[in-house]
Amino acid sequence: MKNELFNLIDKLEKEQSLTLGEYQKLIENYCSELALYSAEKARHSCEKHHGNKIFIRGLIEISSYCKNDCYYCGIRKGNKGCQRYRLTKEDILSCCKEGYALGFRTFVMQGGEDAYYSDEVLCEIIGEIKRLYPDCAVTLSLGERSRESYEALYKAGADRYLLRHETATKEHYEKLHPKALSFEERMRCLRDLKEIGYQVGCGFMVGSPYQTSKHLAADLKFIEEFSPHMCGIGPFITHKDTPFRNEKSGSADLTVFLLSLIRLIKPNILLPATTALGTVDGKGRERGVLSGANVVMPNLSPLSVRKKYMLYDNKIATGQESAQCVADLKESMKEIGYEVVTERGDFKNK
Ligand code: SAH
Repeated sequence: MKNELFNLIDKLEKEQSLTLGEYQKLIENYCSELALYSAEKARHSCEKHHGNKIFIRGLIEISSYCKNDCYYCGIRKGNKGCQRYRLTKEDILSCCKEGYALGFRTFVMQGGEDAYYSDEVLCEIIGEIKRLYPDCAVTLSLGERSRESYEALYKAGADRYLLRHETATKEHYEKLHPKALSFEERMRCLRDLKEIGYQVGCGFMVGSPYQTSKHLAADLKFIEEFSPHMCGIGPFITHKDTPFRNEKSGSADLTVFLLSLIRLIKPNILLPATTALGTVDGKGRERGVLSGANVVMPNLSPLSVRKKYMLYDNKIATGQESAQCVADLKESMKEIGYEVVTERGDFKNK
């Protein structure tokens, strides 16, 4: 058995593809020795494309208002305890100004699905960022919108879009979301974003309620086939004011193992070591990078709102998670042999 698992890692490295059953076998039977083996191969594969560079993205959390009621998420509409806020164009531009001075060349605007941000409002903000910072990339992470809306935002200058698929299995998707949200619509959005020309990121939570190894295998297969430019994964973390308040959080060990598999599937993908990983494990970000991640997304939101964008309990937003502490981040990446760079860090098709 043990040999068989190591052979599967070799096969994945060589062919960038495994069967659903093979993925499932790896996920069900991995041990620390196998994870180390896979991480080493993942680092090697990442280095071939990106050297030892780590790209940084300034994350601006523009709104905690959301019309959706995802069972896992702390800013869901039904959470009466969530403090709501939204940033104005001026707020967002001042985050960009600060971020630019700190060396950020990608700004990510993320938020709940908040009707205040109409196409008109967003196009104006995007246009202004691109006018002031023509050398920067703008990434959006604002949930599901119509194809026309995605097209308008792309025309206004948005370069990338992050929309996690959350799970590639319809039945599982329906256990994580209320009826108003559908798996088909999520997939429609991802397809549209890609067709329009965005660099697209999908992704999922590790250890979300009801998740099985079969679901995770399907997530890996989905990444193989959809071939996103970016992929964000992090452990599910319980939030005390959601329907999943009594569910267990996901594991950092499994998350970093999956990161290494994703790197082997897509050697040139942009793969962040996420905030959720850094929240469940104080060394999560470093462990992520040592397993093949090559992106970190420090928090650039105004300090006054950081505690209000609580997707899950104890979400970190200060220390090295803070864009203002990028010097510390540089230092800790240097200690493990990596260099934080200022360049935009676009997806490169090689
Ligand atoms: N409204 C946007 C942004 C959502 S927040 C959208 O729909 O894309 C970004 C991601 O945080 C989500 O896609 C989800 O995967 C993750 N997330 C939400 N709640 C979480 C939780 N409790 N634990 C871990 N990750 C969570």
